[in-house]
Amino acid sequence: MKNQSPQCLQLFDNPKDVAQCVQILQNGGLVALPTETVYGLGADATNPQAVRRVFEAKKRPTGHPLIIHVANIEDARKFSSDFNNVAEILGSTFWPGPLTLLVKRSNRVIDEITGGRETVALRVPSHTLFQKVLAHFSDVGSGAIAAPSANLYGSVSPTTSQHVSGDLGDRIDAILDGGPCGVGIESTIVDCSVTPPVVLRQGAITLENLNDVLAAIGVVVSDQVTGESRAPGMQISHYSPSAEVKLFENTSDLKNYEKTCIANGIQVATILGSSNREIYARELYALLRSADSLHPQEILVLLPPATDIGVAIRDRLFKAAAPR
Ligand code: AMP
Ligand code: MG
Repeated sequence: MKNQSPQCLQLFDNPKDVAQCVQILQNGGLVALPTETVYGLGADATNPQAVRRVFEAKKRPTGHPLIIHVANIEDARKFSSDFNNVAEILGSTFWPGPLTLLVKRSNRVIDEITGGRETVALRVPSHTLFQKVLAHFSDVGSGAIAAPSANLYGSVSPTTSQHVSGDLGDRIDAILDGGPCGVGIESTIVDCSVTPPVVLRQGAITLENLNDVLAAIGVVVSDQVTGESRAPGMQISHYSPSAEVKLFENTSDLKNYEKTCIANGIQVATILGSSNREIYARELYALLRSADSLHPQEILVLLPPATDIGVAIRDRLFKAAAPR
């Protein structure tokens, strides 16, 4: 069993705690922060030692680049030497929100963030508490927060502060509790540095949303193989619970398989998910974590249809089910 009692500081949504959170970032510390997607492990993106600590705390391979979070599109432009037309259209339409843009880096971006790449990933999150931290951190510090998901590398992303404490409570300085995350899965990532722009990871901002605003330019979707080299850290197996995950396209196949398992003494936990796909996404990681906490041999999951955010949910489930 993981230790559920946090050893780090617990902070909440009030001015004193936000100030303390910013002070920790300013001192090179690590604070888990709520975003609308999942909880992020925040560090000052301009401080190489702080960024290195993020990789250590998560046990994340250092080649996997981090997303920089900033308060607004004006600040995002400062971290890019070519914040081009596509980035302008997408940033001005979907920020603040669950969309990450890959653009050419400016000389403000340190190598520790990008793993030496010439591109940087930028996002303006909409979570009001994260925005309060960014506003304050812009006044007293760099205003740029590197924040990968606040979990150990390869495991299921955290969508509550309790998930973060269980995974990283003894490895970080503080957790800012903003309640459960609204979207529940990681941001959509679009590479704007190539023509046409490429969707590297699907999320709550869907292909339809992107194509609606990009009109004639359009986006293409990276396949998983080329996606690996373009966007390191998106390998096939990811977001994985300990138990084996089996996926089903329809309820009757799932129920038949479940019956066979029970008849053969195989312990299973079943996730049907909400028929409302936004709710399914919001609850997905909590459902995977609680199923896993029962220590079943297998977790059986009903896939949502591949429509709107269902595409992103399926992507995360395929990764959770992939061979390790
Ligand atoms: P996350 O782990 O959710 O913070 O997402 C980080 C992911 O964004 C990485 O694993 C990469 O797939 C992608 N990414 C971030 N920065 C870059 C970059 N400079 N070049 C390519 N992909 C990036
Ligand atoms: Mg992650």
